[in-house]
Amino acid sequence: MSGSQHATDVHVLIVGAGMSGIAMGVALRRAGIDDLLIVEKGDAVGGTWRENTYPGVACDVVARCYCFSFAPNPAWSTWLPGGAEIRAYFEGVARDHGLLERTRFGVEVTQARWAGDRWRVATRDGGTITARALVTACGILHHPVVPDIPGLDRFAGPAFHTARWNHDVDPTGRRVGIIGTGSTSAQITPALAGVAADVTVFQRTAQWILPLPNRRLRPASAALFRRFPRLNRLAHRGYSRFYDWTFAEATRRPGLQRRMFSALCRWNLRRVRDPELRRRLTPADDPMCRRLVMSWSYYDAIQRPDVTLVDRRIREVVPDGIVTEDGAHHPLDVLVLATGFDTRAYMRPIDVVGCDGTRLDDVWGDTPRAYRTVAVPRFPSFFVLLGPHSPVGNQSLVAIAEVQARWITEAIGLLDAADVGGVVPREDVTAAYNARMLAAMGDTAWTGGCDSWYLDGDGLPLAWPWTPREHGRMLATVDRSELELLPAGAASAAATATATAD
Ligand code: NAP
Repeated sequence: MSGSQHATDVHVLIVGAGMSGIAMGVALRRAGIDDLLIVEKGDAVGGTWRENTYPGVACDVVARCYCFSFAPNPAWSTWLPGGAEIRAYFEGVARDHGLLERTRFGVEVTQARWAGDRWRVATRDGGTITARALVTACGILHHPVVPDIPGLDRFAGPAFHTARWNHDVDPTGRRVGIIGTGSTSAQITPALAGVAADVTVFQRTAQWILPLPNRRLRPASAALFRRFPRLNRLAHRGYSRFYDWTFAEATRRPGLQRRMFSALCRWNLRRVRDPELRRRLTPADDPMCRRLVMSWSYYDAIQRPDVTLVDRRIREVVPDGIVTEDGAHHPLDVLVLATGFDTRAYMRPIDVVGCDGTRLDDVWGDTPRAYRTVAVPRFPSFFVLLGPHSPVGNQSLVAIAEVQARWITEAIGLLDAADVGGVVPREDVTAAYNARMLAAMGDTAWTGGCDSWYLDGDGLPLAWPWTPREHGRMLATVDRSELELLPAGAASAAATATATAD
């Protein structure tokens, strides 16, 4: 389906056709809710895997568990498959579950306003969609951060963010500069080394790198998993449990797992032979304070003669390169901004307006809070996938989205009662949950004093302090006592009031 200016009324509107939007669509359809529409501003499904097409893009979570539990992929080509393969997998799931024909592409939502008994959603093309329930599935790593570096706009060559890779630019034989040393840079640097004339990596903060090898999976294993689907499901579950027991546990509290990852990172760093280069690559904070970068090849790449690490602060970008604070000029033909994402934005800049004209942007600011990661008081029948404090560590986000989509589906089911106009979490319950959750952050690795995209505007972690299993337990079923069910009659009255105020 392509974009349209016609008004539409649906039971559920999902914003975003990435991994979590697909999880939501499937959960609704499995519950028999077919009156749904997905709107997607891009021209295809896949979300982050559609947007990120940089050289070397790949999953850094073992893909056996980076897939849906209801559609474990038997045929991944490697442990850590490339972006195109993952995108094709999600496209296949969307197609198989009848979501493509329920998706309007090229439609960007600009505002959503609660109108008493339904959401009135405005799109950039001038259209209006109304829906009893609104689910945002806009991803976390969605809004590229373009750094505020003096002179950036004066660079004479191509300069682009990693999530907006310019495929018209051939890096072969050119001098490429990469600003940033996060997970994305750790994939691009080895991919460009040996292709570009030289690669200069500008590091502001050194990061710990876990040596995660990739392994080719034999076609025979795909045949085996196809032949024995239970084995396939078992592998999916086994890897998921392994990640929960290792990565999630290591970030949650000190102990064996954290010591193990710490030791692996330190061992990996010792593979850097030059002591001076090793010193410059040594982080000041402890492993896991930030999201661990996964790479088997980054340290090999950074030790190549045609790859240079620059750890002096950038003073300015000049037309033919970058000048660092020590006055050194680093000549460049192409500039890559591997500078990350605004992870506090969530679905914003969509202007979400709830009860009595309350704006989500005003409520959240730089410190977003939600009820059990998925809903927000004063915003009836409004749900967020991968919302504030979702478990977003080094493990698979797919399982998280599935858990949330099931809970949201059950909550949407409450709207079936004739006397229910909307469903919204109680303010007191949400406040108590957030207080308890923030109090539990003490032992987590993110409170180690480092800056990272896991932190909110107050410097508090925006991640989940408990086990992923606890997240599953908290969202296993809807606890009606924690929700307010708005009466349909009163909702209509509120709608009239809202319409009058408009
Ligand atoms: P990131 O981890 O936020 O790293 C951004 C980098 O840019 C950091 O090194 C940062 O330095 C640097 N930077 C930002 N502004 C700068 C400035 N003004 N001057 C100099 N340096 C600047 O972003 P990312 O690498 O894109 O990764 C984001 C997340 O995406 C990852 O944590 C991961 O969750 C996800 N990801 C996943 C995969 C996958 O395979 N599944 C692959 C890539 C990314 P500081 O450290 O000093 O701030």
